Amino acid sequence: RTVYVNGEYLPEDQAKVSIFDRGFLMADGVYEVTSVLDGKLVDFDGHAVRLARSLAELDMPSPVTTEELLEIHRQLVSRNNIEEGLVYLQITRGAPADRDFAFPDPEETPRTIVLFTQNKPGLANSPAAAKGASVISIPDMRWARRDIKTVQLLYPSMGKMMAKAAGADDAWLVEDGAVTEGTSNNAYIVKDGVIITRQLSNDILHGITRAAVLRFANEAQMQIEERAFTVEEAKAADEAFTTSASAFVMPVVSIDGQTLGDGAPGPVALRLREIYLDEMRKVAI
Ligand code: PLP
Repeated sequence: RTVYVNGEYLPEDQAKVSIFDRGFLMADGVYEVTSVLDGKLVDFDGHAVRLARSLAELDMPSPVTTEELLEIHRQLVSRNNIEEGLVYLQITRGAPADRDFAFPDPEETPRTIVLFTQNKPGLANSPAAAKGASVISIPDMRWARRDIKTVQLLYPSMGKMMAKAAGADDAWLVEDGAVTEGTSNNAYIVKDGVIITRQLSNDILHGITRAAVLRFANEAQMQIEERAFTVEEAKAADEAFTTSASAFVMPVVSIDGQTLGDGAPGPVALRLREIYLDEMRKVAI
């Protein structure tokens, strides 16, 4: 696999970053994951805009322009022959001479930028989506700026392990009685034809897939309520699903062992998945 690191395309085993990198020492960095369908980037612009926002929130000047970023994404997709898969991008505050809590001067310490691809044939035609996912609910113990897409992913990883230990696929995070989001996706329920998903705030990541899916749902005259919902409400819902760049629209068929509806992926989730894939393929670049 060819990867990108600080201006160079290299075989993955030759790519190197410093042990003093603040991404490594302090999780001082941000990332994006963009999916690839038909060898093209899905919603590149959405991811580029969110990346710029994450960097700005952390006072990190970008080491690349959006045009350069697009070119790097395209180079990696092409060099690695990715038809379906993902491009992972990470920018950290770089490697100052010594470990220090204070941010280094950005003029003296350049940001570290790394990109790599993940080949995932069958990403769109996923058997997991046909079956639907099971989730458990766990307390949301992350920091309070979940709107910034930082590489600080330890609690979501622990959540995924708790789900695995419980025989489930993923975890939904709960704060003050309401679901915030999934470990790596935005969460939705459907009740009496209404799609309910938490409103945007610092409590959740502003999903790029979420924005597109809500736009398509609106265009298809589906009813949407952006508000917090409880786990009890979710367990009593007709259906549920999640959205993310890496899994698109994923039906959820059980919550804490409670089966939703007839236990099969719901019609709203399946329809939104189909619309999302069809429409995003048309505009992928
Ligand atoms: N929420 C969290 C916590 C995430 O980690 C992600 C994606 O990684 C999402 C939501 C979904 O965001 P997107 O649709 O931009 O992939």
